[in-house]
Amino acid sequence: ERKAALAASSGPGATSDGHKVPLLANVGGPGDVAAAVEAGAEGVGLFRTEFLFLDDSKKAPAHDKQVEAYRKVLEAFPEGRVVVRVLDAGADKPLDFLTPADEPNPALGVRGLRTLLDHPDVLRTQLTALAEAAEGLPVYLEVMAPMVADRIDAKAFADACREAGLQAKFGAMVEIPSAALRARSILQEVEFLSLGTNDLAQYTFAADRQVGAVSRLQDPWQPALLDLVAASAEAAKAEGKSCGVCGEAASDPELACVLTGLGVTSLSMGAASIPYVRATLAKHTLAQCERAAAAARAADTADDARAAARAVLSGE
Ligand code: PEP
Ligand code: MG
Repeated sequence: ERKAALAASSGPGATSDGHKVPLLANVGGPGDVAAAVEAGAEGVGLFRTEFLFLDDSKKAPAHDKQVEAYRKVLEAFPEGRVVVRVLDAGADKPLDFLTPADEPNPALGVRGLRTLLDHPDVLRTQLTALAEAAEGLPVYLEVMAPMVADRIDAKAFADACREAGLQAKFGAMVEIPSAALRARSILQEVEFLSLGTNDLAQYTFAADRQVGAVSRLQDPWQPALLDLVAASAEAAKAEGKSCGVCGEAASDPELACVLTGLGVTSLSMGAASIPYVRATLAKHTLAQCERAAAAARAADTADDARAAARAVLSGE
């Protein structure tokens, strides 16, 4: 039965009553593109560009090498959306030549956009390479920064994009609670939000994502995390802008329904999860997703939130 449901699952992501929720793929490089196309991804919602920087521990990859890699991913989705995240170095993704070696708390230190603002040459090369890679292609390029904390960060990133001559939408990842709480202020500088729920959980619960002993607090069903998702989605709606999810949360089919009910406008996940999320979304109306979201937020624990949403979605 499960196989039949998946075989029937194709086409754009939508609830049973036709509310569209584009299903996008998370990719880590050109090698992931075939699986994304095969799964029917409507584009890429998170292109992690760190892979390019792993070959050389002393310097950033040359402009031309970057252009080539970006172009391969952009070409795979003609007419589709491709959301590229600029380099997210530091913490769980350290790079020798960029990441300070002596920080007591690397997850709270110079990482993500903070690293790039300290190394504007690295950011500029990446942005000009993206501009060149997108030249002449019909793709909808969107570029976003990891670890945006506030409006000052968002403006610095948008300024860098404009200075590099990038013809694209600029966005901010919401991975820090401050960004979710003040999403409307961040949206004065950028055109879209994308929730990185892995880091957002880490920073909301002060629970290192690399420490198994605190994994209970990394559960994306935590109602506090759902509250921050809701705040971000509401802010985006009020500003007439989009707010996707690209963290692991989007790959759980029932949670994907809850995120949709919270007002999230697209879901990006590993390609293998797309058919499952598409099939589950297609079985529920938007109103049901909204009721499931409200039930989950009314719970006190992640387990209770999951059970409450499941009860609504199964029509109990
Ligand atoms: C996230 O933090 O949820 C995210 C999508 O980024 P990464 O997992 O690469 O930090
Ligand atoms: Mg992250």
